[in-house]
Amino acid sequence: MVGRSAVVSVDACSTERRTRAYLDRVATVTSAPVRQLVNTHHHGDHTFGNSFFTGATIIGHERCRSELLAAGLPADLGIWEPVDWGALELAPPTVTFSDRIRVWSDDSPIDVVYVGGPAHTTNDCVVWLPESEVLFCGDLLFNGGTPFLLMGSLTGAISVLTTKVALIPARVIVPGHGLPCDHELVETTLGYLRFVLDAAARGRDAGLTPLETALETDLGDYAGWLDPERLVGNLHRAYADLAGEGQPRDVDVPGALRDMVAFNGGRALSCYA
Ligand SMILES: [Zn+2]
Repeated sequence: MVGRSAVVSVDACSTERRTRAYLDRVATVTSAPVRQLVNTHHHGDHTFGNSFFTGATIIGHERCRSELLAAGLPADLGIWEPVDWGALELAPPTVTFSDRIRVWSDDSPIDVVYVGGPAHTTNDCVVWLPESEVLFCGDLLFNGGTPFLLMGSLTGAISVLTTKVALIPARVIVPGHGLPCDHELVETTLGYLRFVLDAAARGRDAGLTPLETALETDLGDYAGWLDPERLVGNLHRAYADLAGEGQPRDVDVPGALRDMVAFNGGRALSCYA
């Protein structure tokens, strides 16, 4: 959001090069500096570039700060293709909130709202511009890419999308990845999440591991989305979501990521950083 003397940015990028390119692009629109940077959640592709927003106040949910500090800077786990990160410095939010916070761009309000969950992560927020009816959804939505729930919850995401996001009267929705869209993507995403939960229930009942279930699952129309191997990580999380009372709900995240590589025929996961 470009104001008279300041810009509010929703999220940073993942690498130095990409974040600098983004800031260069902002500079073609206005000479005003970015004074406020809102993080929709803690994932590095939305926060690693925070430190390049010199002089900006970084705003995020309280668990966005704690999870980013716990995760730290990217490590080469051999899971993803190599990335030229640049000179990253961890810069977590310095203004945090637990429920919602209102940021101002000149006289226009911008509401940053924690949606509950876990959904995509434990700290997902939407950014709502009531005057222009534009909604930034972070990674609650991917347009053209496969949703990724490994660090959140499928059942939680379904709840958040149906009881929160679907009810916001947005004219334009900006997803965490992909082109701006409208509410149709909410329904499309819900269809995928329910599809994965159904596959998980069938696989679990048949005694299959998440990877075995993924290999037996026909993605149909969803196969054309980017990163279809996320099905494996999503199934790991879906198994945990479906676990009965007293059953472990933790997911072995590194193990799930290795299963995604295995599903990929041993190829490292693509990274568009
Ligand atoms: Zn994310």
